[in-house]
Amino acid sequence: MQRYDLLVKGGRLVVPYHGEVHADLGIAAGRITAVAEDIPARQAAEVLDARGKAVLPGAVDAHFHIGIYRDMGLDAYEETRSSLVGGATTVLSYFRTGQHYLEKTGPYKEIFPEVLDAVAGRSFADYGFHLAPMTVEQVEEIPALVAEHGVTSFKYYMFYKGFDLAANSRDARAFTMGDEYDLGHLFLIMEKIAEVQTAHPGKRLSLSLHCEQSELMRVFIDRVQRSGKPQNLRAYSEGRPPLTEQVAIAEAAALAAHTGVDINFLHLSSAEALDKATASRTPGSRLETTLHHLCLDHDDLDARGGLGAKVNPPIRTRAHNEALWAGVADGRVDWVASDHACCMEEHKGDELWPARPGFGGTALLYPVLFSEGHLRRGIPLTRIAEAASANPARAYNLWGRKGSLAVGFDADLTVVDPAAAREVTAEMLLSGQDHCPFEGVRLTGWPVATVVGGRVAFRDGEVLGEPGGSYLRRI
Ligand SMILES: [Zn+2]
Repeated sequence: MQRYDLLVKGGRLVVPYHGEVHADLGIAAGRITAVAEDIPARQAAEVLDARGKAVLPGAVDAHFHIGIYRDMGLDAYEETRSSLVGGATTVLSYFRTGQHYLEKTGPYKEIFPEVLDAVAGRSFADYGFHLAPMTVEQVEEIPALVAEHGVTSFKYYMFYKGFDLAANSRDARAFTMGDEYDLGHLFLIMEKIAEVQTAHPGKRLSLSLHCEQSELMRVFIDRVQRSGKPQNLRAYSEGRPPLTEQVAIAEAAALAAHTGVDINFLHLSSAEALDKATASRTPGSRLETTLHHLCLDHDDLDARGGLGAKVNPPIRTRAHNEALWAGVADGRVDWVASDHACCMEEHKGDELWPARPGFGGTALLYPVLFSEGHLRRGIPLTRIAEAASANPARAYNLWGRKGSLAVGFDADLTVVDPAAAREVTAEMLLSGQDHCPFEGVRLTGWPVATVVGGRVAFRDGEVLGEPGGSYLRRI
């Protein structure tokens, strides 16, 4: 009798907040329906042999930018395909109105359905969106976005305030196509989310914050531009130093404490940012860092040349990498994300300040955490699974479906070969992006299969079948 559509057999299951167990996983109708010591192969239509491998819950890549620099449908297709390579089965993508993305502004009641239409049927991973209210009208839409679309997380960019770097102008509104975008606007967003939160006591409504302080950036960037030093990635970090993160974190934390809203400190890049976010954290705040802030050093990248690794906040140094790894190991950092933003080499160019920020990394989520976190630094695999999957799932109202290997959860998982050692190339990541700042990094521990909703969607370096991801309402 076939009880299961898929059986994952003989693997070492990594169960967040619990530990590692040798067991088989039975999957039916897209969900995990059995975890048992020895499930006979004849009970399943298909068997995935996981002997000698680690089986981890599919990563929830909680910081993503589908469609920021190119067609949204194409980007969803190619970049979530890349997610499967790294074991990510859910992506939570940021969207805002203004320049890039759809290059327009307006109410989300008109624009968000356009976004959902563009991505529908094109994502290999399950997906949801965090939305940034750029206008007062959009702040007023927060209750409807929660109720009608199940969006439970929003975003504010501290560094857009009054300074448009792309245009080198003091008028950020050309970029945001919005209203006054200052701390007053941030306060209005927080107040509104806190108000809506009272209607949803069992859920976590949150505001994500990109913390860099724009008035300080203006001074440091001006200084660096006039210094006569090479305008490279080191200069970029000097123009947006950790002090700008510290101050922005302190400002945001003060407003969050006053309004009582839960916040997520995104992509902490420096020891100082981690310290400040830790010191100001409340029970409702969460801390995030990225793969690149854990792994890359601007001097190494400058020695190689190129601006492919320009990103906000900037890449720092080895000492900052280590401080952030310590935060991942001891749990001060709640989760690690890719901040994936597919950005082609032609949009980087060879001039620092006009180069577009951001790059992809979703395909490296588990490989980096496994290789650099577990094997090199001894972080237990359960902690790795919490940082990649369980913690973001809980913070963003996906727990119970995403984030663990337990009966009743969606059958989203990845099978990692702990001995597979490979040097990163842009091609193997199956992304649309034509370069990769991690190129040449040697990592050990790669997914050999990734299962989304009970279907083997990636195996031995190849994506199988069509996109099967669905939109995740989170309330
Ligand atoms: Zn981002």
